[in-house]
Amino acid sequence: MIIDSHCHLDRLGPDMSDEQLDEIVAAADKAGVNAMLCAGVTLEAFPGLLRVVERFDNVVGAVGVHPLEDEGCKEPDVESLVQMSAHPKIVAIGETGLDFYYKPDSEAMQLKRFETQLQAAQQAQLPVIIHSRQAQQQTVDMIRALKPEAGGVLHCFTESEEMARQVLDEGLYISISGIVTFRNAAALRDVVKMVPLDRLLVETDSPYLAPVPHRGKPNRPEHTAVVARYIAELKGVSLEQISEQTTANFFSLFPKARNTLKLAE
Ligand SMILES: [Zn+2]
Ligand SMILES: [Zn+2]
Repeated sequence: MIIDSHCHLDRLGPDMSDEQLDEIVAAADKAGVNAMLCAGVTLEAFPGLLRVVERFDNVVGAVGVHPLEDEGCKEPDVESLVQMSAHPKIVAIGETGLDFYYKPDSEAMQLKRFETQLQAAQQAQLPVIIHSRQAQQQTVDMIRALKPEAGGVLHCFTESEEMARQVLDEGLYISISGIVTFRNAAALRDVVKMVPLDRLLVETDSPYLAPVPHRGKPNRPEHTAVVARYIAELKGVSLEQISEQTTANFFSLFPKARNTLKLAE
């Protein structure tokens, strides 16, 4: 079993029908990707996310506000996040974090949002899903200042080996997406070789970032299998070992998912 630790099943398209959604989850299951976590992006979209996670026994979710979402969207507050995360299928706070690659101008807003969500994670005693791009120092500083006690993951990791070591030192996990298969991702491949097996997660971040050879098409959770296979080769271990270890890691990081993910035996 492989778990897609980060996807956006609720964002696969504005006109996504239940039947198409069913087909996508069934295709993932068939590819050995038997469970997935749907990350939150805005509070406005949260009811739609809940609809998706409630529809499937093998999908859990998270509640959060993405750092790049327009400033017009509702700002999160600790109390609302804690309340929303009480839902039995919501297993984490996120995605949150900092992204100064696309929006360097909104640093103050992003820092405040990130801080609020780390506080919510602390209060709810839930792990936090962190997005970080071109914001290494600020991300690490924030993690050190507001230590996520229930743990966390740097999702879709693309930053430096130095940052990887720093967040590993803080006890966090590192999740790898299909970017690892991209031609220009040599530095990321070195990071993957360095990260201990028991701290790795795999994801698609679908519908974004389809891995080679699916680039240019909408990504789908089933492609987590492509990522897992690629990492197995990079690390010189079997696909089975990667699948088992990343699944065990997923349940260590998201213990609430153990109670709610009703997986086929
Ligand atoms: Zn992200
Ligand atoms: Zn995402």
